[in-house]
Amino acid sequence: MHPSGQPGGPEDAHHPREADRPGGVAPAGWRDATRVVHAGEPAATPGAPFRAGPVLAAPYHLAAEGPGGADAYGRTDNPTVRALEQAIGELEGGEVVAFGSGMAAITGLLLATLAPGDTVLLPSDGYFKVREFADTVLAERGVTVHTVPTPGPYRLAELAPTLVLLETPANPGLAVCDIAAVAAMSRDLGAVLAVDNTTATPLGQRPLALGADVVVASGTKALTGHSDLVLGYVATADPGLADRLRGWRAMTGAICGPFEAWLAHRSLATLELRLARQEANAAAVVEFLAGRSEVTGLRWPGLDPLARRQLTRMPGLVTFELADEAAATAFLRATRLVANATSFGGLHSSADRRAQFGDPVPAGLIRLSVGCEDPVDLIDDLRAGLAAG
Ligand SMILES: *Cc1c(COP(=O)(O)O)cnc(C)c1O
Repeated sequence: MHPSGQPGGPEDAHHPREADRPGGVAPAGWRDATRVVHAGEPAATPGAPFRAGPVLAAPYHLAAEGPGGADAYGRTDNPTVRALEQAIGELEGGEVVAFGSGMAAITGLLLATLAPGDTVLLPSDGYFKVREFADTVLAERGVTVHTVPTPGPYRLAELAPTLVLLETPANPGLAVCDIAAVAAMSRDLGAVLAVDNTTATPLGQRPLALGADVVVASGTKALTGHSDLVLGYVATADPGLADRLRGWRAMTGAICGPFEAWLAHRSLATLELRLARQEANAAAVVEFLAGRSEVTGLRWPGLDPLARRQLTRMPGLVTFELADEAAATAFLRATRLVANATSFGGLHSSADRRAQFGDPVPAGLIRLSVGCEDPVDLIDDLRAGLAAG
């Protein structure tokens, strides 16, 4: 490990290119807002900008004797992607491999670690594409797939999984589970524990510090928050696994583009500001919705005692139920500020009816992503939406 406690030090064989590695000098005592502004920045150099621009390159000039540890080809690695990986690594507390989407990161982890005869345990209420992938691609390749609701029970001794994937808070139902407790069980049984940290972001929750072996996440959502890119990553404290994933990424071509990496790194600097505003707005919206007779099944991690203990900040994600499909559709049609759109975590408030995407949820369930607008305007808009339903 680097003296800063971050991966990427000189002894890290996969990163011999210290010259283009960022400074990695974040003092341990820095608080969240400071850490995100400076995450992955290069050391101050007279005449250089605070942040380098994106390096848009496919091939690079080679030395006569070959690559010799330098960049050679853009499918393998890229300096802008490495800067983003350094930044996210500082926040997650592990070594990061960035991918072109959250699904590229998750499927990369699953395919690179699971062999025929292995068993994987997935959340039954988590991101639906992961289950679809497991039930088709993994099952066809001889991997046994089990699912469990996020709150458990986790019968790991009985199922003997090779890999356990948690998603907490889960999308879209926002159920949570105790990461440290499942980590202790997984460790005893020799299972690898991965946690999807998309909804919480590394400022809201640090699964590696809670005992998980791997974090997977979509960078498309709150992490970058501007609804302008698709990105994902894996973080781990296991350098062997990081190497394998980097090898996997180079073979499959699943690396993210340098321009997306650059945009993501730029957006990361405002993560604390955005999350603080989204949490405050979500608290106000939840208070409003709780007083409305049309609304049932209101969920927000801020209302859940386990989430309150495990997360250091609450996401802007709220779910609730309206009477039926017609009421939910009328609500989505009537709001002007809250966009009818999937995805979540952006500056713009948005909402969607999850059943239309095949999530196993009631027909009237709305997932509301509370953005960074003024809460008074937002609540006015929600009031108009409910009046239409
Ligand atoms: C969106 C999402 C994913 C997939 O990420 P993409 O960037 O869309 O591929 C995975 N897990 C969770 C929890 C998500 O919300």
